[in-house]
Amino acid sequence: LSGDGENLSSAEQEIEKALRPLSFDDFTGQEKVLENLKIFVAAAKRRQEPLDHVLLHGPPGLGKTTLSNIVANELEAEIKITSGPVLDKPGDLAGLLTNLEANDVLFIDEIHRLNPVVEEYLYSAMEDYKIDIMLDSGPNARTVQIGLSPFTLIGATTRSGLLTAPLRARFGINARLEYYDAEILSGIVERACGILGTPVDKDAAYEIARRSRGTPRIANNLLRRTRDFAEIKGDGRINQAIAEMALSALDVDHNGLDEMDNRILSTIILKFKGGPVGLSTIATACGEEAETIEEVYEPFLIKEGYIKRTARGREATQAAYEHLNVSPPNTGTQ
Ligand code: ADP
Repeated sequence: LSGDGENLSSAEQEIEKALRPLSFDDFTGQEKVLENLKIFVAAAKRRQEPLDHVLLHGPPGLGKTTLSNIVANELEAEIKITSGPVLDKPGDLAGLLTNLEANDVLFIDEIHRLNPVVEEYLYSAMEDYKIDIMLDSGPNARTVQIGLSPFTLIGATTRSGLLTAPLRARFGINARLEYYDAEILSGIVERACGILGTPVDKDAAYEIARRSRGTPRIANNLLRRTRDFAEIKGDGRINQAIAEMALSALDVDHNGLDEMDNRILSTIILKFKGGPVGLSTIATACGEEAETIEEVYEPFLIKEGYIKRTARGREATQAAYEHLNVSPPNTGTQ
């Protein structure tokens, strides 16, 4: 459920596309980030200059890609989309950069996973709109400098802490996306139902929103599945009972924790006496990658107050014990 939108069927990808907001006005939430971006975009347009480079960070599914597309739309510019792991060689980057027209946007997802050699090339591209390319090798080796059209780099990352200092320093605009509150997500669910032509009760939209881990991508996923239940088990309308039925069938509990969230909590509490326990130990016990736990699950569990990060590892809180209905050990340290 917390997946990153991969593995969708083509019909579902179509739905996904239809639900994507295309302009600042369609995008709800992240108010502060949005207000700032609107001003920076308007100023860049008025000066007919490229927008300064933008770094967007925050957990997956909060709208980094969506916002980048919106920024390009609002700039009336083209966007080229790539990702850190895909840009393997400097030549790949050079190919993309030399194809950009003035004021276009280059979006690099997972920018913290750039190959260091490629990253090095990006510095002069970002700073001076130039790249030095090495031609030939051995005695004939020489570099030529290629001028680029002024462009905007938008980098997205779930782990801004992993960005190198020189790369980070080259972004003039740095914005952190936060988890959405249930009211705003509820509006997003209602808007999506409008687009899908699915009738929905207000309380049912809120129930889906409340249990979506503060994440629009998850809200949209849960909505698509709930719509299936409404069509097969009901009369097509999403009401509270249908929402309850779908969410429990999808293993989303009443506090909105999914199966992996619960597995992580019960691992810490039942196998490791509430912690502290190291991330990699938790990962092995849960059968999940440590990186995924750290990027996807943990930020939400910390934000909701179920676990704490300490110098010695992760610890379950009182709220986690209550959630699992287990009595905490009486050590006086909780
Ligand atoms: P990220 O790049 O941060 O992982 P995406 O931009 O891919 O996240 O967003 C995931 C999905 O959530 C998108 O398909 C989009 O439809 C939806 N979405 C994200 N933010 C919003 C928003 N503010 N309003 C409506 N839908 C949103």
